[in-house]
Amino acid sequence: MEKWLNSWSLGLSADLNDFTMIKKAGFEGIEILAEQKNAVQYLKYASDLDLKVGLHLPFHDLNLATPDAAVYERTLSVLTEWIANLAEYDGTHATFHGGYAWFSEERNESLFRVEERIIKLNEVAKHHGIELLLENLIPDKLNYCHHIASNLEEWIDLITAANIKACLDLGHLDLMGNDLKAAIDKLAGTLGAVHVSENDGRSDLHLLPGDGNQFTVGLESYLEDRHFGGPIIYEINPYQYSIQDIVNHLSNNNSTVR
Ligand SMILES: [Zn+2]
Repeated sequence: MEKWLNSWSLGLSADLNDFTMIKKAGFEGIEILAEQKNAVQYLKYASDLDLKVGLHLPFHDLNLATPDAAVYERTLSVLTEWIANLAEYDGTHATFHGGYAWFSEERNESLFRVEERIIKLNEVAKHHGIELLLENLIPDKLNYCHHIASNLEEWIDLITAANIKACLDLGHLDLMGNDLKAAIDKLAGTLGAVHVSENDGRSDLHLLPGDGNQFTVGLESYLEDRHFGGPIIYEINPYQYSIQDIVNHLSNNNSTVR
């Protein structure tokens, strides 16, 4: 199964040597986090080294579910620009967040709004030959606002309605309280990519697989059962691990995601 790295794990000032190191370690692709100040430079490094590229679309200050028309207009325009940019580098997929309802009571109308907007965004993505992947998010335990999508049912409903695919974030799934195998079986053919990290079951720590509560155990066999052909993207905390730590993890223990 293809192993990729999300560029968040590289920090904000990675250079060509770091990208070379990643490639030598066996990572086949990089999912670039568009919010990083050097994101375009990172796209260039990856493309120069013949690494496959995808994008994690920006989400801070951009709420796809917003009731504010100007914020939505800005969100769509920024996401559209990045999708076009990714296409220039022969990118494959763009992972995105569904935004959030300001109040949990407004969840249903926000979901209705976001469904229409994802359909529209997917037209842009299809035009550029990019596959759109909706990522699952951590539920707001206070139940003040509502993150979209932060439960399995609404996530699958949105993916089905908009005819897109899922980026399954394992750390987020753990905090949603779902079982890994059951979620993979439910997502089945809609699964486009996986974000891999572990945590302690309480907060989203983005630890290397095996360093947390072992939530990732069984991942590869569950995915094989479903004939999953997409990338497994490591999304590892750059404030806790160096690039060398991540490289060592992959080369020393290629079966750690097991
Ligand atoms: Zn993620």
